[in-house]
Amino acid sequence: MQQTPEIVVLRLGHRPGRDERMTTHVGLTARALGADRVLFPDNAGQSLETVEDITDRFGGPFGVELTASPRGVVRDWDGVVVHLTMYGECVQDIEDEIHEAVLEADQPLLIVVGAEKVPFDIYEAADWNVGVTNQPHSEVAGLAVFLDRLFQGAELEREWVDADQRVVPMETGKRVVPADEE
Ligand code: SAM
Repeated sequence: MQQTPEIVVLRLGHRPGRDERMTTHVGLTARALGADRVLFPDNAGQSLETVEDITDRFGGPFGVELTASPRGVVRDWDGVVVHLTMYGECVQDIEDEIHEAVLEADQPLLIVVGAEKVPFDIYEAADWNVGVTNQPHSEVAGLAVFLDRLFQGAELEREWVDADQRVVPMETGKRVVPADEE
């Protein structure tokens, strides 16, 4: 994948006991599909540990951090802010503008996904409110499709560094080998 400006995913909220899996999967999806870093609310330490473990095993680089103020991250972000929401403009209608504003202009991008109800100031702070369809689904699906549209599939070719293990693609079955094995 060619060098891009920093792409960071922010998980706005996290409800312990309810959001563990979804928050973790926001992090795993951000990592697997081209983002450089994920920011979780500071009550999502379990998700941070899981994503760090996967990064240790299957490679990086990928950053996982906690923040005490997700809304402050949005407010203070020095770059482009995209908020993924079912109420937003259709991704296919604005993806070219976002591609130009981020990748061509070499501007860092913050991609915001919610959990519980998203406060209106996030909608106002975003440069784009982007819907992956205008149907209700999830932060993981929305993030995955948005990243693939942003990178135009290049994220699927990413090389991984400092991995312990790697998966060997198989027609049938599963094969995981030490990363340095040919
Ligand atoms: N009920 C909350 C609200 O209305 O703000 C959102 C709950 S939704 C399950 C959690 C997150 O999934 C949203 O904040 C949004 O980031 C993402 N999401 C859900 N549907 C989406 C869509 N069609 N397009 C983009 N993102 C979507």
